[in-house]
Amino acid sequence: MSRQHEARLDLLKRISDFALRYDLEVTGPNLAVICSALSGSQSKLAAAFSAREMSSDPIDQRWLETVMRLDPETDARIVELEKLMDQMEYALMRFAQTAKSAHDETTGHREALDVQIEAIEQADADAQTHGEVDRIITLSRSMLQRIEQAEEAMERSQAESDQLRQSLAQARMEADVDHLTRLPNRRAFERRFKSATSDARSKGQPLCVAFCDVDKFKLINDRHGHEVGDRVLCAIGQLLSEHASDDCFVSRHGGEEFVLLLYGFDKEAAWRKIDGIRRAQAAKTLMNRDTGKSFGKITFSGGVAEVTQDVDPRSALIRADSALYQAKEQGRNRIIAL
Ligand code: GH3
Ligand code: MG
Ligand code: MG
Repeated sequence: MSRQHEARLDLLKRISDFALRYDLEVTGPNLAVICSALSGSQSKLAAAFSAREMSSDPIDQRWLETVMRLDPETDARIVELEKLMDQMEYALMRFAQTAKSAHDETTGHREALDVQIEAIEQADADAQTHGEVDRIITLSRSMLQRIEQAEEAMERSQAESDQLRQSLAQARMEADVDHLTRLPNRRAFERRFKSATSDARSKGQPLCVAFCDVDKFKLINDRHGHEVGDRVLCAIGQLLSEHASDDCFVSRHGGEEFVLLLYGFDKEAAWRKIDGIRRAQAAKTLMNRDTGKSFGKITFSGGVAEVTQDVDPRSALIRADSALYQAKEQGRNRIIAL
């Protein structure tokens, strides 16, 4: 066996050992990020992996997803897809414009031709001539018919491309919305995170990020079923949106976890804000409408970090994630800012 072959086998084994040791799903994105880290092809990822393995913090799906952001390849794929959609939208718009101007032009010609044929017919009747003029008229009439058909085809194409553009715009919107809570989803968050970071930097204003994760949510599912769990998630999503003001962006990050962006908030102000929402949730009694009974207290924990403190904004996400983990460790139903 060649040394290269041996090295490849060794890498594959380390990837599979890693996935099995931490009970991670065998999915394309998971394997890609583990491979980038363990092969050392992405030094930032490699460093994040070894630091995590040495700490006592868990290596699980949510950490993996947070750290995936350090992988420029994942980022590049998303950017590429966005670019492709932009290009498609532009091509469709150009097509609709061309179809419309071709349609308008043909209509103009057809109408002028129609008037001319009428005039020739009239002149022909007046002059009582037959033969050549007749043939020209017949030819012109059939040409008119063809133009009309072409016009109809162009109209149909234009309507189709308009429809496609609308579907594309709708798909774009849907792609940014979480189907359960109707809040912006993680994809929307990622985009907003980028623009908010550069905005905050250029305006010299602070920006904070907060992860909020429902406490012991699995118990709710286990006791009341997944459907009821879904309703609880919607209620918590709604409470977050209601308490978040204009300077707050709320999205569902996935599962029972929400992520907020707090514009113009420094770390202390963001902590106060999120802690206020946490208290509001903890004071609430959610009822199970199927049984009319209360669920008991449903609380969440949160981790806050100031994005504008870091050179690389993605480090703030990792810090907020660690803060959330600490909040869980320290007993849940609390917010920690790091
Ligand atoms: P912790 O306080 O440590 O966060 O405990 P937890 O039970 O909330 O966390 P854990 O990660 O163990 O479980 C989260 C559960 O959330 C497991 C998963 O089935 C459930 N879940 C994730 N997404 C959804 C969803 O869309 N609907 C419902 N009903 N459950 C979900
Ligand atoms: Mg939870
Ligand atoms: Mg969770």
